Amino acid sequence: MDIAEFIVRELQRILPPDRPLPLHEPSFEGREWAYLKDCLDTGYVSYLGGFVDRFEGMLADYTGARRAVAVVNGTAALQVALRLVGVERDEEVLLPALTFIGTANPVVHLGAVPHFLDVDPETLCLCPERLATHLAMIAEPRGDGFVNRKTGRRLAACVGMHIFGHPADTAALNLALRPYGIPLVEDAAEALGSFRQGRHAGLDGRVGILSFNGNKIVTCGGGGAILTSEESLADLARHLTTTAKTPHPWGFSHDMIGYNYRLPNVNAALGCAQMELLPEFLRRKRALAEAYDQAFSAMDGLRFFREPPGCASNYWLCALLLDRPDPGLRDAVLARTREAGFLTRPVWTPLHQLPVYAGCPRAALPVTDDAASRIVNLPSGPRIRVKTGAVAVRATTCPDVSPEQAGLGEHP
Ligand SMILES: *Cc1c(COP(=O)(O)O)cnc(C)c1O
Repeated sequence: MDIAEFIVRELQRILPPDRPLPLHEPSFEGREWAYLKDCLDTGYVSYLGGFVDRFEGMLADYTGARRAVAVVNGTAALQVALRLVGVERDEEVLLPALTFIGTANPVVHLGAVPHFLDVDPETLCLCPERLATHLAMIAEPRGDGFVNRKTGRRLAACVGMHIFGHPADTAALNLALRPYGIPLVEDAAEALGSFRQGRHAGLDGRVGILSFNGNKIVTCGGGGAILTSEESLADLARHLTTTAKTPHPWGFSHDMIGYNYRLPNVNAALGCAQMELLPEFLRRKRALAEAYDQAFSAMDGLRFFREPPGCASNYWLCALLLDRPDPGLRDAVLARTREAGFLTRPVWTPLHQLPVYAGCPRAALPVTDDAASRIVNLPSGPRIRVKTGAVAVRATTCPDVSPEQAGLGEHP
């Protein structure tokens, strides 16, 4: 049997009969209606009302971040995060080439320049060794920081991204950055519910961000959050994202040029209801990943992309890795599975291959280019329940993560 045919057969065996089956659609099965009704009944649809504070509290509690600041989307969260760590116009920000464009756009929104780096072949996240080698080659001390010796621009920050929800090795990234004093910012947009050694993604950078877009594990319709352990940064984030309005009983004044990025109460209401469902969503996603893993490890020529050792991933987007870097084969798999009603997708076009980013500084990117031609993302939404009998029972609990954290505990 050819690979495409085998994949279709296994998807039919594992997945429920809905066709077409979307790649990742949201699921509203908790208190969403009740909380939205509360917003409309009280009239608190915008900044005021209790859901924003409650949502921020739930995020801080769940992730273990000291503070969470809710904003309109993940892209805005990253823009503010970069500003918080001091990125300015005409500076450079290091980031992986294999990511969604939302990792790079905020850099440009600040007038800075993305500098693309390669990913690790095992984790597909920013590679700490390649980062260290590249910095040793291009970084030159100037003033109180380091510049790119080719462009003369200050290396202002590095953004690590947790691909498909799998935790990046952020401790190793911090080690590589430390000699240069470059701050790490974590784009954990995809990684709510993902843990490495029991620690939630997004906490090892000075600032981390989450997204609650419609296609993420938990959605507010649109939304994002800034995570940090530094109170002063969280306060500044809150101030900047509420048009830098100075607190006063009636006066209306502003002391900085801020942003109108605060998350509205209606979106936060959805977010609160969704956060209550997160443990159940994680349980379903991990069961689905387990079924995919069992099914596809049996076939030569491909493998299921697993969480790294010591990690409990949210498996936001499940992915197959074809052995051969052959875009023809990948496209045949995409065409065949989509024809059968499974809305599979290739990974994002690597950013340096996009005309708008082609002129940016970059390292050699062989792993990125190779991986991009081999990845097929599979239906992964939180509504999907694996067909009974399609997965052999096997413990999936990561020893370093409590069952509740990993989403394997009982749902109330
Ligand atoms: C979704 C996503 C973003 C952007 O989040 P939005 O809320 O859609 O603005 C940024 N980076 C990555 C890696 C993402 O997956």
